[in-house]
Amino acid sequence: MMLKRPKILLHTQIMIAMVLGIVFGVIFPISSTKIEVTVEKATGNETVIINDWQEITAFTASEKVAFASDEASSISSYCKKHGEIKSLEVQYPNSKVIYENIIAVDRIESIGSKIKPIGDLFIRLLCFLAVPLVLATLISGVASLGDIRKLGRIGLRTILIYISTTTVAITIGVVLALSIEPGNKISVSEKEDLVAQYQVAAMDKAKMSENIDIDIIDFLINIVPKNPMAAIANGKMLQLIFFALMLGITLTLIDPEKAKIMVSFFDALSESMIKMVGIFMKLAPAGVFALMSATVASFGFDIIVPLFWYMLVVILGLSIQTVFVYPLILKIIGRSSIRNFFKEIREAQVVGFSTSSSAATLPISMKFAKKMGVNKDISSFTLPLGATINMDGTALYQGVAAIFIAQVYGIDLSLIQQLSIIFTAVLASIGTAPVPGLGIIMLVMILQSVGIPAEGIALILGVDRILDMLRTVTNVTGDNAVTITISNLEKRIKPS
Ligand code: ASP
Repeated sequence: MMLKRPKILLHTQIMIAMVLGIVFGVIFPISSTKIEVTVEKATGNETVIINDWQEITAFTASEKVAFASDEASSISSYCKKHGEIKSLEVQYPNSKVIYENIIAVDRIESIGSKIKPIGDLFIRLLCFLAVPLVLATLISGVASLGDIRKLGRIGLRTILIYISTTTVAITIGVVLALSIEPGNKISVSEKEDLVAQYQVAAMDKAKMSENIDIDIIDFLINIVPKNPMAAIANGKMLQLIFFALMLGITLTLIDPEKAKIMVSFFDALSESMIKMVGIFMKLAPAGVFALMSATVASFGFDIIVPLFWYMLVVILGLSIQTVFVYPLILKIIGRSSIRNFFKEIREAQVVGFSTSSSAATLPISMKFAKKMGVNKDISSFTLPLGATINMDGTALYQGVAAIFIAQVYGIDLSLIQQLSIIFTAVLASIGTAPVPGLGIIMLVMILQSVGIPAEGIALILGVDRILDMLRTVTNVTGDNAVTITISNLEKRIKPS
């Protein structure tokens, strides 16, 4: 008799992979106290492993930076960024050694982090799908809809709900941070330690933010691409949506015989891309396992202690938004089943969590919407738009972070400043690209807009990766909740 192997559902497999990845990363962490230094010698290159130091000072042509005994990752990333390291002065408890002619300074990877390329490959496969999937699905969806009024209604409602959920999210963040006061629960020495450890990285982020500027007029003008092909090639989501919408609408206005060819072409492309999502998702358990393991292996858990209250406030805020605000919208406006929503959304949430990218999760969200019975003319518009402009989790986190930093620096924010944080964070979340870690760069702009020192991000950088994963889950859940809501609203409208 043939025994049938019990089939484990994909989202259960992904969940198991996530937990196993965390365990694997904990078992095989990257050493925070050992580095590998390669120096040039007359006899050839030589590699030495350095550990048990008290302090290491790196000298470049223009500056010197000191690192404590558990900052192996910071030393290697500093040396990689600055290229030309003149020398390293290693202070041991009873002696000092100076290394010159440095070629490379590397942290020592573990098996937990070495498997990261499998995760990177998974993210690339997902990103690979996004542009053709959105383009084809939106064009064929709009062309078969043939009703411009309906399109305008969907567009307006979607944008309104997106902006409202973001405003609610950041308000939750600001109110929680003002009432729990995480910034007043951190000691002066903890503050000094954090600033010393992350100063260099914070300066880098502050520099990156100099090139970003949110100008609402520019933002709107830039939605129209000068060259749609360039927009497609560069994956500019809003420009791509504009092009797809215009082409889809125009196809309903030309000779139906001619339009049919184009519409069937994009329809077939859309179906193929959706099928491809299913194929690539077979890799999801391996990808999620590798991403989780690599993140956990390189995460310094010690940092959680001084930032406990700050993390708690962010996590509490994200949970309120995800578990109360979205269900409320789904129930009251969307009149849909919350249970079913949370059962089916898990796959997209886990992928959002492990990739930290709403953009990479977009194909999974589209698959989710299809399963929930949302018409593609709606999901192919609301989901890519949401992934680009609707970042509730990011806005909430930025609100908490801004208040936290102000509290640590002893800055009393006036009501106007608090409102200004809310307003700027809503704008910033629209302008934040849906990729890992961009939220913190936009945070620099929010801080500057109300006069909080930008170096303050050094305080929170150490836990940014983990909070990025969590806020991406909220971002993705928000996009999908609004999509279901809009779809249900449309279903209730009787055709005139
Ligand atoms: N990683 C976030 C996202 O893709 C953006 C951020 O908050 O950095 O949704």
